[in-house]
Amino acid sequence: MEVLSHRINRLAESETLQMAKLSRELRSKGFDIIDLSLGEPDFQTPAHICEAAKKAIDEGYTKYPPVAGFLDLRQAISEKFKRENNLTFSPEQIIVSTGAKQSIANVMMVLLDPGDEVILLSPYWVSYREIIKLGEGTMVVVSSTVETNFKTTAEELEKAISPRTKIFCFSSPCNPSGTVYSKEELQSFAEVLARHPGIFVISDEIYEHINFTGKHESIAQFESLKDRVIVVNGCSKAYAMTGWRVGYIGAPLWIAKACDKMQGQITSGTCSIAQRAALTAITADQSETTRMTAEFRKRRDLVLSMLAEIPGIKSNHPEGAFYVFPDVSAFFGKSNGEQLIMNGEDLCNYLIYHAHVTLVTGKAFGDENCIRISYAASEEKLKEALKRMKDALAKLS
Ligand code: PMP
Ligand code: GLU
Repeated sequence: MEVLSHRINRLAESETLQMAKLSRELRSKGFDIIDLSLGEPDFQTPAHICEAAKKAIDEGYTKYPPVAGFLDLRQAISEKFKRENNLTFSPEQIIVSTGAKQSIANVMMVLLDPGDEVILLSPYWVSYREIIKLGEGTMVVVSSTVETNFKTTAEELEKAISPRTKIFCFSSPCNPSGTVYSKEELQSFAEVLARHPGIFVISDEIYEHINFTGKHESIAQFESLKDRVIVVNGCSKAYAMTGWRVGYIGAPLWIAKACDKMQGQITSGTCSIAQRAALTAITADQSETTRMTAEFRKRRDLVLSMLAEIPGIKSNHPEGAFYVFPDVSAFFGKSNGEQLIMNGEDLCNYLIYHAHVTLVTGKAFGDENCIRISYAASEEKLKEALKRMKDALAKLS
């Protein structure tokens, strides 16, 4: 007898987490797997942040925290928004959650009613799609290709808008493409949205600090969008704190209050110790973040130069995050004599078993022609993985 709800039955498992699980399973069976599937910095959380957590335990931060987050942390985030983004969010407009993933889920849950449309730019991050489903919204996708380096124009955005559009959600730097929108490009989006005052923007800026263009730009800076942008950010990527689960939003007060109410019923706020560590991460010296970003940039260059040596791979040019999203459609219809490659998923499966490298199919992000390579791994591992991929792909004809 089927007893699970319609809601969970409709929900797909996260393909990124699924691939990471598969990598762990294959490794435990003795396979020498190089895992380039998960978007997770391979660095350890910087020592001063870990020390802050130890101190928090000793100081007795072991009780329920305020649901929205400790006030001093929200004050520090408010100051961070001013200092780094020139955005004004009072501490009351900031809600700390169990990762940016929950921040996004909160916002979708509090804004969406059945049938409301959410515009996503494809390729998009996998969880947006499923969170929209949970919120009973309808996803409207604006597609882009490797030819435009996965950028969408303001005209394309405008065409996707309908009277039912409630939210426009995107990430810059983007997961999975690494695409970074410039101030001028964001302004052209803002001009379109100015003509549609009923649309809210979820600006996912979790990769803010892993940006190789020199400066991060937020769509929240434009006056015409005042009171309509929810900025999502967190500690996972900038501070290598994926396991600590700290994300946050800066939002219009009424949306922040609704998110507070939501998580008051489902999580009671995020871990008190992780919040104390986050306070140190955000307020202390940022040189570890700068160092990690420089390292990611070197790896990006390495991966791009090695991909350029693989016939059939058409790569984009990421300017942030730690992913490359190449078009691999040249391999479709090819075979190694046993396995026929028809799409990105087949190619990922082929590479697991013939190169022992795990990646994520582009289909998870809305583009079947592509695969996602996470280069959040050591140079040594990246070199070995790309060599193995090149050899395995050469066997397809
Ligand atoms: N947004 C994007 C674009 C992401 O890649 C991720 C993946 N970590 C998240 C949000 C969620 O991050 P977290 O929940 O770890 O803060
Ligand atoms: N965001 C990361 C990724 O895209 C981590 C996995 C996840 O949160 O789904 O791989």
